[in-house]
Amino acid sequence: MSDLTNTSPVEYDDAEYGILAVCYCGERPNLQPSFKRTNPGRLYYTCRNREDGDYHIFKWWDEAMMEELKTVKEDILKLTSLNQMREALQEQKEEIANILNMHKENQMELGRLKALIANKGDGLTMELKLTNMFVATLVILAKMSYFIK
Ligand SMILES: [Zn+2]
Repeated sequence: MSDLTNTSPVEYDDAEYGILAVCYCGERPNLQPSFKRTNPGRLYYTCRNREDGDYHIFKWWDEAMMEELKTVKEDILKLTSLNQMREALQEQKEEIANILNMHKENQMELGRLKALIANKGDGLTMELKLTNMFVATLVILAKMSYFIK
């Protein structure tokens, strides 16, 4: 921990990344301007509670902001990536729906073809019966004509 007599206090090790929401003691951090010659007016987060003259927390506001921006930038990249993945998933979902539709149409076509073949089969059977009857009639006629002679 840093000493109040230092010109530039050392950043507290356990400080949160980015903007500080709360100190380890439970106090909300204060934002104050520095009155040191080295950083006049530079804002920093600190806690009003101190321990043995040391800051509970000390963090430069501009550094916290840079960290916060970095986090926001990373979040935006993650969101962009997630959005791209979501779009890709949507496209795949549409592709699957198309494939399922094609499958359904194929099933219907297959059913139609099966019915057609079944009907054709009946037709063929009927044709075969008629041919047999025709042949049988011819045979009978041939036999009759043979006996008539
Ligand atoms: Zn504190």
